[in-house]
Amino acid sequence: MSERIGRRQAIKTAAAVAGGLGLTLLKLETAYAEQGVNYAALMVHFTSSAQIREVLRQNITLARRTPVLPSFAANVVLGNEDNPGPMFSIIFDDCYKNQDEQAIPVLREWEVPSAWAAIGVDWLKNGADGTNRHMSVERIAELSEDPEKIEIISHTTTHRDLVALWGKEKLEELNSELEYSQRDLQNLTGQPITGICYPNGSSNPQIRQLAASRYAYGLSTIPGLVSPTEDIMNMRRIRVS
Ligand SMILES: [Zn+2]
Repeated sequence: MSERIGRRQAIKTAAAVAGGLGLTLLKLETAYAEQGVNYAALMVHFTSSAQIREVLRQNITLARRTPVLPSFAANVVLGNEDNPGPMFSIIFDDCYKNQDEQAIPVLREWEVPSAWAAIGVDWLKNGADGTNRHMSVERIAELSEDPEKIEIISHTTTHRDLVALWGKEKLEELNSELEYSQRDLQNLTGQPITGICYPNGSSNPQIRQLAASRYAYGLSTIPGLVSPTEDIMNMRRIRVS
């Protein structure tokens, strides 16, 4: 039995159980299934040009996925953009120099767009984590000058665990992690920052609700393809590295 048939069967069963409401649910779910959103949001940390070439070969040449920016894919999931069929995005977490050096030349050669999850501007200016591994704010600004090919995403102001802040009831700090990263990256790039990438994928429903007041979509580290029935503020990703 194919996955799709299995899914339809499960929906029908759910509809039967739900009785009268089930018919509406069935219609909605069938509409989503026919809409057929198929989106792989790929997560990359340290990488090599060979790895990026292989990712492009597998997704474009073999799987025939269209490379898109995650803001576009989020709009497809929300029904605001026409569905181009199977899609994928490459999302570089943390903005390391290694990613810039290894991936950008390959992406330019293949003319493929990519997204970059940047930690706060002040955090980067103040020396980041002290390891000298991160890209400079000047470099991030330079890359962002080509918004058709490069999307900058917020990776919070200081890369703190948002669920931990929530647990300690540090709501002001939690808010500043969501707010200042977006504001400063918008000022740096002159582009709207509509995506939030939670550090370590850590969020909860309340955090996602807070994030939704500023951002159009959120990225988790829950593995898998993005399904149209999931929370747009908690999209799944597939880890490359
Ligand atoms: Zn990170």
